[in-house]
Amino acid sequence: MSKDTVQDGLVVSMEYTLTVDGEVLDSSKDAGPLQFLAGYDNIVPGLEREMAGMKVGESKDVLVLPVDGYGEFDEDAFMEVSRSEFPADMELEEGLELNVSDEEGQHQLAFIESINDETVRLDFNHPLAGAELQFNVKVVGLREPTAEELDHGHVHDEDHHH
Ligand code: ZN
Repeated sequence: MSKDTVQDGLVVSMEYTLTVDGEVLDSSKDAGPLQFLAGYDNIVPGLEREMAGMKVGESKDVLVLPVDGYGEFDEDAFMEVSRSEFPADMELEEGLELNVSDEEGQHQLAFIESINDETVRLDFNHPLAGAELQFNVKVVGLREPTAEELDHGHVHDEDHHH
């Protein structure tokens, strides 16, 4: 298979705009094109699937439904935690993003939904859960990954070595 189209195992550079409910939430206009290693769950599945086969210079509008994006909003993905579970000097506020680890040591992102006298209610939904994602994407480059990038399953750049 020739390597001049978007396919698994290649690093894709793309310009993009993400619009939700008519509001631009994210765009490459400021930070420059986003690079991702295709085929390694680095972008939402619905977008990755629609970008397969695109050539450099090609652009596309892609609507991604929640099931192929950040998931449906889950009414059960909330948890009440005692305030005493948090460090005494920690400033708790609504909307604060937390990295929570469970008993198996798995890390999960959560947001503080509300704070009561005794408890803090955490929301484990992704902020864009339930959202229809309207992407405009343009492929601006394709390259082979380095062996290390392929091994890690993601792109490395000057600011990002791990
Ligand atoms: Zn890495």
